[in-house]
Amino acid sequence: MTYFTFPNAPPLPEAEKLRGEVRAFLAEELRNVPAHVRAASWSGFDAQFSRRMGERGWIGMTWPKQYGGHERSSLERYVVLEEMLAAGAPVAAHWIADRQSGPLLLRFGTEEQRQSVLPKIAAGELFCCIGMSEPDSGSDLAAVRTRAEPVDGGFRVNGTKLWTTYGHRAHYMLLFCRTSGGPADRHKGTSQLLVDLTLPGITIRPIADLSGAKHFNEVVFENVFVPGSALIGEEGNGWHQVTSELAYERSGPERFLSSFVLFAELIRVLQRNPSDHATIAVGRLISHFVVLRQLSRGVAWLLQNGENPALEAAVVKDLGALVEQEMPDVVRSLVEIEPGSEQTRELARTLYYIVQAAPSFSLRGGTREILRGIIARGLGLR
Ligand SMILES: Cc1cc2nc3c(=O)[nH]c(=O)nc-3n(C[C@H](O)[C@H](O)[C@H](O)COP(=O)(O)OP(=O)(O)OC[C@H]3O[C@@H](n4cnc5c(N)ncnc54)[C@H](O)[C@@H]3O)c2cc1C
Repeated sequence: MTYFTFPNAPPLPEAEKLRGEVRAFLAEELRNVPAHVRAASWSGFDAQFSRRMGERGWIGMTWPKQYGGHERSSLERYVVLEEMLAAGAPVAAHWIADRQSGPLLLRFGTEEQRQSVLPKIAAGELFCCIGMSEPDSGSDLAAVRTRAEPVDGGFRVNGTKLWTTYGHRAHYMLLFCRTSGGPADRHKGTSQLLVDLTLPGITIRPIADLSGAKHFNEVVFENVFVPGSALIGEEGNGWHQVTSELAYERSGPERFLSSFVLFAELIRVLQRNPSDHATIAVGRLISHFVVLRQLSRGVAWLLQNGENPALEAAVVKDLGALVEQEMPDVVRSLVEIEPGSEQTRELARTLYYIVQAAPSFSLRGGTREILRGIIARGLGLR
């Protein structure tokens, strides 16, 4: 019996040509950016950088041309993603819209939504945020309480969203909410709205993370009137839609490359003081990366072929987060970091950032326990 499918994605010559272009672009863009800044990578927000990505056609790469896309393959898109992450490019501004909001609108959105929003996303001009989690609804997403009451011409929205990444910089939120029924209905009666975050009645308050950075937010809706044209797909179909959005959210190489800049910095330092011990530890990590990449490209290939790789994505995300979170310990075990040492200063700064960011790697996008529950269900164990 086959439980998981990780196809061998074929080599693609045009993707390798593209890799050279992306590397040249990044070498120029990131020339003077130190590793501890690049370490933020897909949490790093730079609207101008996203615009330059859009100009090169590297956002919405697989989407139809009629919506501003470029009709390239998912493996070409994969090359752009992995090069961005390996180099630590500040891709956060467009990341969510490129990864999941755009594909969701392509699949379920109205023609008007597609035409008005997708070309701007692809141009790197319009940013989106994810409105799923709430104070009492994280892992248990079906417990969502934010309510969009149908009223004349649209919906009246009340409720609070939490941990909304870059909600304060985004133009639109993809809001998961209840439009009918109550908690007893659970999966029924939920919908998704494309909410313009400038509407009156929306308050966005930043929340500081462990490092003091303010990238996520609490977003409060108080009697916000949202026009009926904002409904994505069908009213009451929210659960089906939001779970397919989560498959996009969990499927990319960002789920195992969050500590990669630290890894590269470690190698830079070790090259000056090689040892058998370090070679073995680095070799072990590289073998993990090679396997994760192979699996992850298989997920990209499944997406390319119109399949739903939710189960395979959960496997890659869970295994990937283990490697991402192990990295700071590996660095500490291999390098003596002396205060004031010029040789290890940048490694120490990068380590400092990753130590504080790492706990979130197995929370954001679905916790470890939830992913393992999905995997167990896929194996027929639950
Ligand atoms: C950096 C970061 C960015 C984020 N960005 C966004 C965003 O942009 N938009 C958004 O909507 N959300 C976002 N989130 C929220 C994230 O999706 C939630 O934190 C996550 O889903 C967990 O929900 P929770 O925090 O409510 O924890 P809970 O669901 O309360 O879980 C607490 C603990 O209990 C465990 N647990 C819960 N249920 C079960 C179960 N059934 N079986 C076993 N264990 C269980 C969990 O694994 C976890 O360890 C972000 C989170 C982080 C850390």
